Amino acid sequence: MADTTLMDKLVSLCKRRGFVFQSSEIYGGLGSVWDYGPLGVELKKNVKDRWWRAMVHARDDIEGIDAAILMAARVWEASGHVAGFTDPLVDCRQCKNRFRADDPRIKGTPGQRDAQCPVCGSKGTLTEPRLFNLMFKTFMGPVEEQAAVVYLRPETAQGIYVNYLNVLQSSRQKIPFGIAQIGKAFRNEITPGNFIFRTREFEQMEMQFFVKPGTDAEWFERWREWRMQWHHELGLNPARLRWHQHGPDELAHYARAAFDVQYEFPFGWQEIEGIHNRGDFDLGRHQEYSGKKLDYFEQATNERFLPYIVETSAGADRVTLTLLVDAYREEEVEGETRVVLGFHPAVAPIKAGVFPLVKKDGMPEVATSLYRDLKLRFPSFYDDSGAIGRRYRRMDEAGTPFGITVDGETTSGRTVTVRHRDSMQQERVSLDLVGDYIAERVGGTL
Ligand code: ATP
Repeated sequence: MADTTLMDKLVSLCKRRGFVFQSSEIYGGLGSVWDYGPLGVELKKNVKDRWWRAMVHARDDIEGIDAAILMAARVWEASGHVAGFTDPLVDCRQCKNRFRADDPRIKGTPGQRDAQCPVCGSKGTLTEPRLFNLMFKTFMGPVEEQAAVVYLRPETAQGIYVNYLNVLQSSRQKIPFGIAQIGKAFRNEITPGNFIFRTREFEQMEMQFFVKPGTDAEWFERWREWRMQWHHELGLNPARLRWHQHGPDELAHYARAAFDVQYEFPFGWQEIEGIHNRGDFDLGRHQEYSGKKLDYFEQATNERFLPYIVETSAGADRVTLTLLVDAYREEEVEGETRVVLGFHPAVAPIKAGVFPLVKKDGMPEVATSLYRDLKLRFPSFYDDSGAIGRRYRRMDEAGTPFGITVDGETTSGRTVTVRHRDSMQQERVSLDLVGDYIAERVGGTL
């Protein structure tokens, strides 16, 4: 399968089955902004829930928060985003298009007479590169002219740093400890694309771990290991996951070390999560800009220090896309193409489909009653329309791991057929135990 074809097929499947729709589609769509449909919202929620369980619930040393998207503008001065979160761009005076200054399609040197616009082909119409800030700006207050400028946060991490003292004091944690948060972030990306990979509104799952200087390298290595393990436990193909270490030219000036978890998408190896050793840059800057002391007093050693931070920063949308890409497959079955999303049962949006074989002989009544019971335990779907084979295929496309069919033997022998999505094997399970049977297989591990 050609790689572009795979992405096209995935985008079309996502729309057809209700995973992802284009934002404002009936108005022609909004560029690189996407909405999650009924199945997509479940899939992404499973990603976020698993992250939260692993990072917050399963540990004693991490607390969760949910900070506001709008923050004091000074936060973004302290963080360096107002001055430095920029890309150099050039405009074409002729066709008004805008490009990154390093766009490989530009012929010649932007700003000079030899430069040719890659869209309209005009010569000498490209401006000199100008810095363009990626933060979305808006106004707080009723009258725009007098109102304060506020930004939509371009990352969730700052909400953690500015709450560091609040959490430390209210939770009675001691260093080393971490703060985790899941939330929306916004970046006015110049070259968004590849479906939900790079968008202007997205969701991050970030954790900042505060440690004593000198122990940071050790914690960094631990976090690298734990985060890669988490991706493996999502059921991703390990051969498509790898580390990418930031070289000196990629490393942010304050960062002591940075590694990305990369996944091999149809459009190449790309980052899905970053693990960064940020030193004392963040707390140092907020201490300086806010005038509030943020150092830590360690009673056991009688020492005072500004904690170092090890950050793990993952994109919920990118991980969701990773699951979709990893799960998609086509198989030839009896002369037909079967499309399957082979999700790990723990992340599948629907865990079981319930089907009466025919709409008579008491089967719909038994199936409905089973469905009502199952639905209270895990997401289930009832379908009584069309041939049973077609109903299985629809569930294959939704990635549902189990199909339960109520048939003639159910009424006589109180057993149902459980059909497995991947092997298509069928087995008979007691009607009374089928709920437990599925619950055991969809729980998953952390
Ligand atoms: P990239 O180089 O791909 O733009 P980045 O290095 O700017 O990413 P970070 O600032 O480290 O990304 O953000 C952490 C995580 O947030 C990324 O690993 C990614 O999963 C997610 N993320 C960042 N920008 C976007 C975006 N525009 N759309 C979707 N997810 C994003």
